Amino acid sequence: MRLVLLGPPGAGKGTQAELLRDALGIPHVSTGDLFRQNIGEGTELGLEAKKYMDAGDLVPSEVTVNMVRSRLAEPDAVNGFILDGFPRTTDQADSLEKILAEEQQTLNAVVSLEVDEDVVVKRMLARGRADDTEDVIRNRMQVYLAETAPLIAYYGDRIRTVDAIGDIDEVHQRILRAVSA
Ligand code: ADP
Repeated sequence: MRLVLLGPPGAGKGTQAELLRDALGIPHVSTGDLFRQNIGEGTELGLEAKKYMDAGDLVPSEVTVNMVRSRLAEPDAVNGFILDGFPRTTDQADSLEKILAEEQQTLNAVVSLEVDEDVVVKRMLARGRADDTEDVIRNRMQVYLAETAPLIAYYGDRIRTVDAIGDIDEVHQRILRAVSA
């Protein structure tokens, strides 16, 4: 199963991706986590990404796409993956189509997690990650609306909409139903 999770920052993509990984036995590929891992290890990629992440801006697509391409080439992702945080722009979505086409693959489903803005801002402030200050959150929401929300139209009838308000396991069950339908 090749799956993309879409949704605004704080929608619970990371939490749901972990549950899906366990339920479906395919890796969770989070670009945010990959960047944070690189920052932790002090790699050149991490140093580059940090400048953008601290401001809540998108890391340049070239850096991001190459990182995703090599992650998806690892053996554990051959039979499927859950992408979380990528694609984040229609250009990245085009790049993803190309990466998959090179391996004669396509996406099986694109899940859109729906939440309202008040809920996600509260969740993120409670989470307290380095880029979860009010100004940075506000910028990430702007970037989401301008750059990422257009992916819903881009994927069109490939989108499965899931109500992401409710308890974690309830939302998980909704996603499983949405992807198996
Ligand atoms: P959230 O979904 O809560 O915003 P993420 O961990 O997915 O958190 O992303 C954190 C930051 O990492 C983003 O604000 C951005 O700077 C960077 N980032 C993650 N994925 C991408 C991507 N696909 N393209 C560009 N930047 C990205």
